[in-house]
Amino acid sequence: MLKGQVALVTGGSRGIGRAVCRRLAAMGAKVGINYVSNPAAAEETLAEVAADGGSAFLARFDVADAGAVQKAVKEIVADHGVIDILVNNAGITRDGLMARMKEEDWDAVIDTNLKGTFLCSKAVMRPMMKQRRGRIINITSVIGFLGNGGQVNYGAAKAGIVGLTKSMARELAPRKVTVNAVAPGYIVTDMTSELSEEIRDAIRSQIPLGSLGSPEDVAAVVGFLAGDDAAYMTGQTLHVNGGMYMGN
Ligand code: NDP
Repeated sequence: MLKGQVALVTGGSRGIGRAVCRRLAAMGAKVGINYVSNPAAAEETLAEVAADGGSAFLARFDVADAGAVQKAVKEIVADHGVIDILVNNAGITRDGLMARMKEEDWDAVIDTNLKGTFLCSKAVMRPMMKQRRGRIINITSVIGFLGNGGQVNYGAAKAGIVGLTKSMARELAPRKVTVNAVAPGYIVTDMTSELSEEIRDAIRSQIPLGSLGSPEDVAAVVGFLAGDDAAYMTGQTLHVNGGMYMGN
């Protein structure tokens, strides 16, 4: 279904990003696995894609570094001709109550999660606009909709991604590039592994479907948005949260 297409997945080496890489590769895309600090995890993802019979390559760069992003995207386009699909998934948390939150923890989360989405999208949009085809899929979070004590930086970045998605969707629609977001609820990954069992139980009690989600639950929806069936959707946010949040 994505045969002949090239996808770039930021933060593709672990967690949700890894499942997205595997999904897009299984759909036939050649997948660029981006990461920044942990080559072993990226190699593992590469091996998993290969074991599934898919095609992938590694792309190490910091999504928050404008120069590095531009250079990497240029190299990928030179090597593979195009980038058809960008999944802005790289993200970090630096939690803490606002009264005690350091400015550097605010900046780190905004830079990676929100500015990184802007920089990577800006770098790929020109080749996408030129070919009059492209899909940009931004990973936001239920926290951008519900808010969460201890995560003012993360909540601001994730709500910002929703606004960014809508404005980008309007700008790029005339060139047939669609921009959508996926908002996961609580998903079992390294990011949530630090939560205590007590907190997990409290979270579970707020999820109508009764359990945390898997990276594959999110990857399936990203795969849908990347595929032909989602051609007429843009500026939307799809929620994957077990019913935890039902607004829009
Ligand atoms: P993980 O912590 O498991 O993985 C994060 C990934 O992002 C890694 O591949 C990491 O690479 C990469 N990364 C981090 N910083 C950068 C950077 N500056 N440049 C490039 N890559 C970077 O996260 P999850 O899989 O849990 O989360 C993925 C996305 O989903 C995030 O945007 C997160 O906010 C969002 N999300 C997650 C939820 C959850 O419950 N897990 C819920 C809602 C949203 P490396 O290892 O090399 O640093």
